[in-house]
Amino acid sequence: MTDQKSAKTYKFKAETKQLLDILAHSLYTNREIFIRELISNAADALDKVRFEEVRGTKIADPDREYEIRIELDADNQTFTITDTGIGMSREELISNIGTIAHSGTAEFLKQLTKDEKQGPELIGQFGVGFYSVFIAAEEVSIRTRSFKEDAVPCEWRSDGTGTYRITELDEAPRGTRIEVKLRDDAKEFTEKHRVENVIKKYSNFVPFPIHINGEQVNKISAIWREPKSSINEEQYVEFFKFIANTSEEPLTHLHISADVPIQFHSLLYIPKTNIEMPGFPPPEVGVNLFVKRILVQQNSKDLLPNYLRFIRGVVDSEDLPLNISRETLQENLALTKIKSVLVKKILTHLSEIAEKDKEKYEQFWNEFGRIFKEGYADYGNQEKIFELFRFNSSHFDNAEALTSLQDYVDRMAEGQEQIYYLSSQNREVMEQNPHLELFHSKGIEVLYLYDPIDEFVMSGIQKFKDKELASADQIDPANLDKIKDKEKKEDQKEEEKIDTKELGDLCARIKNILGDKVKEVRASERLTASPAVLVNPDGTMSAQMEKLMQAINKDAKVPAKIMEVNGKHPLIKNMLEIYKKDPKDVYLDNAAENLYYSVLLLDGYLPDPHRMVGNIQEMLTKSSDLYVDKSQAK
Ligand code: ADP
Repeated sequence: MTDQKSAKTYKFKAETKQLLDILAHSLYTNREIFIRELISNAADALDKVRFEEVRGTKIADPDREYEIRIELDADNQTFTITDTGIGMSREELISNIGTIAHSGTAEFLKQLTKDEKQGPELIGQFGVGFYSVFIAAEEVSIRTRSFKEDAVPCEWRSDGTGTYRITELDEAPRGTRIEVKLRDDAKEFTEKHRVENVIKKYSNFVPFPIHINGEQVNKISAIWREPKSSINEEQYVEFFKFIANTSEEPLTHLHISADVPIQFHSLLYIPKTNIEMPGFPPPEVGVNLFVKRILVQQNSKDLLPNYLRFIRGVVDSEDLPLNISRETLQENLALTKIKSVLVKKILTHLSEIAEKDKEKYEQFWNEFGRIFKEGYADYGNQEKIFELFRFNSSHFDNAEALTSLQDYVDRMAEGQEQIYYLSSQNREVMEQNPHLELFHSKGIEVLYLYDPIDEFVMSGIQKFKDKELASADQIDPANLDKIKDKEKKEDQKEEEKIDTKELGDLCARIKNILGDKVKEVRASERLTASPAVLVNPDGTMSAQMEKLMQAINKDAKVPAKIMEVNGKHPLIKNMLEIYKKDPKDVYLDNAAENLYYSVLLLDGYLPDPHRMVGNIQEMLTKSSDLYVDKSQAK
């Protein structure tokens, strides 16, 4: 029985009216959000009463289960949500529901009038909460009874236009029951399937049972808040499959509960497979941010640095405001601290895997190494990050094996002060690179880089444990003299004598033939097998870096390089003989040009192959003439 004398009608404030008007008439997309808001309020109310009970307060109806019940009634077109939470007194109804207490609301209104399409998104960010019910409601009634034992139950009723009415009730159980009379265009919210999907999407980890028409729909609890010891491997896997929407098991998980410097819980996963494809926009994945168990941001990009963007999972903190928006989130001090703790924990976790389970770590590296390498610029964590990097190297006989920088340093020869690397598109091409000959002959290990980002990574690292990193195609061969040959060859052949004066003359002649194409032609000290190589003048970038720059700027000119020739190679020796007979012999022109084109081709630069093809065909013709003559003479 309702005591009509206690009934009173109140007017909404202008600001509230304006908000209600927008909610009711301007928002058509993503309207389901009101369900999330109502469940979020119910869960809050349950949290609060549980807290009261825990601290020993006497509460009304102590035997009522903590739960949320949703009744869908298609005939009457109603959506009713009941919680057994803390409830509200008449005064609280007026101050909490009747007025916009929310500091974010004014801001919300301002934003909303700028861009109404953003409405539903903004509701989520600003947590205008309860009022969002008017997106779908024709009329709303709230029946509520505070947890305080002597509280008087009340009903609040409004159609969201200008006024609301509060009536005292004779009787009501502890908690709040909100009945939403749905508008004709919002009938879909009486469909169980529809509502269940909304709950699965936003509220599945609310730590109280949610029932729809008597059936519990949220089976998974907030496992990230549970102590690690109470969760088994299977549950961890199941939760990953749920949040990542996959049937694949994760590679590894990391469960964190922190109290200092900030309180939060987190459960993070590294998947087995990288779903990011080069050349396509990165997929919408990330870490879900919960505040007090309520999802406030799905796939948040703000919780982890970009180089850890493949990590999935949940972060849940009591120390963040529920109504946090993206903008305020980025500036939030608590979040900055959470982020910093997360990064450190993840890096430590990866180090542990690298140490204990090499195979698993390499599995991680092969999938995500390319993204993780972007972390070279995270200055605060560089040391740890560099230790986690892996590269193929000349130490191995295949392209799959990986080494850490530390292992490379441990293998360094006496007197070696630098870490050497070289870039190429793959191992096969790498092994053809003449720059490696000197390193191979001295048994010095070179890191093999196959990824375009590696050049940037290497110039970002610069130094690892006091050892400078140097590109093998840029060093002065004299630098390697100090290094003790690891594999000292006892039976080294006697050094061939080369007449440096004569070779110098040939070099001058070749420079003359090539003209501006090269900066200089000189005798090489780095070659043992190849006839020639192109070397960058001091202080310029490595060949691979140049190529990257060219890819970015097509018009960038290949700078003139130094061509070094190997006086011990049969071709150079023959050229020298020809030169000595007749310095003007045209064979030299042809050979010098071809040699230049061939080393340019090896470097990956040859812009126009026509000239080279013409030259080769001319030389083929000449040599086949010789062959024909010879056979005729027989
Ligand atoms: P917010 O939840 O962000 O504070 P709302 O507009 O959703 O904003 O709710 C305003 C206030 O109304 C809440 O802070 C809470 O005090 C009260 N409230 C809303 N729903 C409930 C409920 N189901 N039980 C108890 N109190 C509630």
